[in-house]
Amino acid sequence: MFCKNHPRMMKLRRYLRGSGRVLAFVFVASIIWLLFDMAALRVSMNDMSGQTLKERLVRERQLFKQQSMVTKVLKGGHPVQRVNPGVTPANNDGPLNVDKLAENVYRGRKRVRIMGDKKVDSKQSNSLQDAKETQETKQSFKKPVDWDVNEKHQLDEGELKTTTKMAAKVVVANENQLQPTIQDNKIVELVKKRDDVAPKPLDKVKNGQAVTTAKLEPHPVKTTANTPIKDVEHEVNSTIKETLVKTNAKDVAVVAKEQLQSDPKPQENVELKENVTVVWKKPGVHKVLPLDMTQSPRNPKAVGQFGRPVIMGDEEDTEVKKRWAEGHFNVHLSDQIPLDRAIPDTRPKTCKANLVHNDLPTTSVIFCFVDEVWSTLLRSVHSVLNRSPPHLLKEVILVDDCSTRDYLNEQLDDYMAQIPKVKIVRLKERQGLIRARMAGAAVATGEVLTFLDSHIECNVGWLEPLLERVYLDHRKVPCPVIEVIGDKDMSYVLVDNFQRGIFKWPLVFGWSPLPVDYIKKNNMTIADPIRCPVMAGGLFSIDRNYFYELGAYDPGLDVWGGENMEISFKIWMCGGEIEIIPCSRVGHIFRGQNPYKFPKDRQKTVERNLARVAEVWLDEYKDLFYGHGYHHLLDKKHIDIGDLTEQIELRKKLKCKSFQWYLDNVYPDAIAPIVKAEGLVFNQGLRKCLLLQKGQLLFETCDLNQQSQHFNYTWLRNLQQQSVCIGPQSKEGSIGLYSCDRASPRLRWVHQLSNSLLGEHIVSDYISSRMCLQGKPKGDGVLLRSCDQNNAFQKWEFTHYF
Ligand code: UDP
Ligand code: MN
Repeated sequence: MFCKNHPRMMKLRRYLRGSGRVLAFVFVASIIWLLFDMAALRVSMNDMSGQTLKERLVRERQLFKQQSMVTKVLKGGHPVQRVNPGVTPANNDGPLNVDKLAENVYRGRKRVRIMGDKKVDSKQSNSLQDAKETQETKQSFKKPVDWDVNEKHQLDEGELKTTTKMAAKVVVANENQLQPTIQDNKIVELVKKRDDVAPKPLDKVKNGQAVTTAKLEPHPVKTTANTPIKDVEHEVNSTIKETLVKTNAKDVAVVAKEQLQSDPKPQENVELKENVTVVWKKPGVHKVLPLDMTQSPRNPKAVGQFGRPVIMGDEEDTEVKKRWAEGHFNVHLSDQIPLDRAIPDTRPKTCKANLVHNDLPTTSVIFCFVDEVWSTLLRSVHSVLNRSPPHLLKEVILVDDCSTRDYLNEQLDDYMAQIPKVKIVRLKERQGLIRARMAGAAVATGEVLTFLDSHIECNVGWLEPLLERVYLDHRKVPCPVIEVIGDKDMSYVLVDNFQRGIFKWPLVFGWSPLPVDYIKKNNMTIADPIRCPVMAGGLFSIDRNYFYELGAYDPGLDVWGGENMEISFKIWMCGGEIEIIPCSRVGHIFRGQNPYKFPKDRQKTVERNLARVAEVWLDEYKDLFYGHGYHHLLDKKHIDIGDLTEQIELRKKLKCKSFQWYLDNVYPDAIAPIVKAEGLVFNQGLRKCLLLQKGQLLFETCDLNQQSQHFNYTWLRNLQQQSVCIGPQSKEGSIGLYSCDRASPRLRWVHQLSNSLLGEHIVSDYISSRMCLQGKPKGDGVLLRSCDQNNAFQKWEFTHYF
């Protein structure tokens, strides 16, 4: 600003004196003009927001129409290509056409970069914010169930009414929510009418691979074009209003109350009841939406369509082999299968009739990947987009764990930029799947996190049954049934029923059928949720807040492996539950090998991860882990498993139960004897039992009641009585007593070597030449002698072996 006596200011004053009146007139005129202008702008803005609302109503209707239409198509099997309202930015372009997506060149990028330490720098955080905002603005109409709850504050009074109507509309759209007293027919009829007048979801389509234009089929529903959309809308809504007033007044009041508590402009005419504890989460249920955009695919004859196995000719063999290592499955074949192929609906029959709540939480689907094959990555994403109710799918987050393949950079950005729901998070350093998942979770905005591997295909109706479990109890962690996509023929294969995830020692994951007795006792059907001691790891949903309450994953776990054990023990022992939901099914390509590199040695990485898990969660059972081939991990010189203070603290803070509790209550059929052998130790030569008395090892007539004759042969291969362990003392062969030390090799003995002539011997693991524990013929002690397979004084037997 110029100061008062500045020469330019003086000039200006002089000038104003001369032409003051003219200027004053011009000034006043401008102000009036400006006011007019602003009024006009306001009118047009109101128009615009009215427009947006109208658009929302249309989207809403389209979604609803689509859902009911899918049912029809399934029944009638009519091959109509359907529109996915949730994935195209303006929703005017018809279904997500994978060919078109691949062809399009996108200019504006939307990419989120996350640094090694998971912090997003300001520039990056802006781009993340931008991506979020663009997405939210573009998609606010795509979450019909909860958008009004969250966004009401931005609307003015006129709009508020419409908002309330929309919430009600969604409730009614779900037929099963209707109370028996409601005039069902009337509403269903109206709904049908609404269907009829909505635009047909037809679109130009191309075959996934052959790029031939598919013939458009006529729409099977007769239209009654005379009925104006508005009227039907009005009719439906007033019926709903009536209905709700009659049957559901309490809920409406409570809902309204809940909403209005944070609303500066309370709505009129809503009677608020005091002390009503029922909350927003109660508006009703509906049948699982059979939403599947691929049921009648564009080219039914395409390679691998409907999940059919593909047998490749000999001439393709070289190419198959050549590309195998790219993913450790048939990459050559995968590249020929449509990215949006149909797969058979493998759910148990009853699943279709299952009811889920209308107001399920939204989810962010998180795919972590490193050097994933293009076609499988995209097929994974499209299967989610095509088979998830759009209003429940908040976003799809792709976390690129520092892939090295070119096509996963710009090409992927460009492709995904066309799908507003997809965000890409790029990690600048390879973090491994565990920390990559955490990076995905950090940017997720859905209420539930759904983690998936990057080579999967979600089946019809996969999502709602998972979210329903979380809805019922936020500590439930549901997993879909993982079906098999053949690594050679890419066929979609149904798996056996009643399977659950378990572990065997040393913490090896596996599948095992539920015990038959258990199924009978609990009257279980094949569609019932299955309590699952350990999740497979790659595919599950978890309430976002609960995930963080549990402290997410141990960030000290590297690359791959053990994280499924960690999260499983943590969930169960700290108050949660893991379930397999047979009505939710997702195919997964099981590979014989990890196709990506491990920055450090693979085996060392996995065993280090497992040791961390064992140390934090297994209590006294951790010896079973070490005892099954991992003794070397006890040697601190051999391996550094890192700091566990935080993990141990977390377990204390969460007041988690013991591993013994887990075994007793969650996995009672686990085989987990705390020692390898125990009881009396009988010496064949002496025909007497070993005795520890007054610091001396002697022999005595066997007597089970004598505690001093009881020894354990532990998983760490110690010969032990309470905290006293037996070990070699000198080169001459004397034996000493030591306080037990889990890491000490001196105290390790090998006994019960299967297929060995020394099976009954107790062989020192410490002394390089084979030395065996031997009873002194007079029974006055033990010593170490060269092993002799015929020497009866070197033969020992415990009362129990496990
Ligand atoms: N993954 C990752 N970073 C890694 C290792 C794996 O992002 O360092 C991803 C991988 O691309 C896949 C998921 O994590 O999407 C699970 O890995 P994988 O499929 O190899 O596990 P598996 O199914 O064999 O247990
Ligand atoms: Mn996998």
